[in-house]
Amino acid sequence: MTASSSSEYALGIDLGGTGIKAGVVSAHGTLLREWKVPTEAEKGGGYVVARMIALCRQILSELPEGIQSEQIIGIGIGSPGVFDFKTGALVAGAVNIPGLNGTPMRSIFEAELGLPTRVDNDANVFVLAEARSGAGRDASVAVGYTIGTGIGGGVVIGGKVFHGAWGFAGELGHVTVEPEGIYCPCGNHGCMESYASANAIATYARQAAEIHDNSILSGMSPDEITCKSVGEAAAQGDALARHVIERAAFYLSVGIGSTVIALNPAVIIIGGGGALLGEMLFEPIRKHLRRRVYHQRVQSVDVVGAQLGVDAGIIGAAGLAFAERNSN
Ligand SMILES: [Zn+2]
Repeated sequence: MTASSSSEYALGIDLGGTGIKAGVVSAHGTLLREWKVPTEAEKGGGYVVARMIALCRQILSELPEGIQSEQIIGIGIGSPGVFDFKTGALVAGAVNIPGLNGTPMRSIFEAELGLPTRVDNDANVFVLAEARSGAGRDASVAVGYTIGTGIGGGVVIGGKVFHGAWGFAGELGHVTVEPEGIYCPCGNHGCMESYASANAIATYARQAAEIHDNSILSGMSPDEITCKSVGEAAAQGDALARHVIERAAFYLSVGIGSTVIALNPAVIIIGGGGALLGEMLFEPIRKHLRRRVYHQRVQSVDVVGAQLGVDAGIIGAAGLAFAERNSN
């Protein structure tokens, strides 16, 4: 790290459906201070973009002591959805903000604030954060998954998000793990997220609890059965809960195995609520990968939990500004 890069900072913005979080982040990925405002998504995309710009202006006028505005090298924005990474416009997706689709956020921010701006989806941002300063530090190729309502994915190669030809590389939750399996709204059948997201784990656990009566889960109402409560039951040694997690690990290993063959990552980073299952989930994934990926006999890929927690969204967004600073 040169002296100049250690005194450079970027603004990271984590745009969510209910809240906007933003912060000042160092080149090393340290979050120095954080700001939060409600998104007020119902007021529409134009309002939300103006709100983010106003928040950036506020941050630039309230920079932590010792940091001058000239040391801010750019802005990064992470949000759910599929983005055109050249224009920073939301192409499709999950942010429930009417009118945001198609808004060229990147050029609007650059015109309003005079700082280079990069926009990407939240799963890519998560993996970039972990690859720069978390569980994937120093990995030349890092692959990450966020296990939540669905499964997000991302690939970071040489410190940059890999977008592929059209921008949707790394949508790893939609890798096929059952060729004739459950229909997914993406159009495919048997996507990994239909079998191993936190929601899928809870859904399967509810079905299993109806059939079996000798489990902690059997005594719970359907609403009480969540990915988290499955993890708690498994931690107490409940055989059915362990089976539910093993099954998710099996499907994850099918999808992860294909990605390992395609990309030879040094590390697989698992985040999101499902990562709270910890070693109960990671160890069976490693076990299946050893069988599924023959290169694993030479050197096995690390399967590890994320390290940065809820700050990854801001840290990774700022990481976009550093990683993409000289690219168009
Ligand atoms: Zn799908």
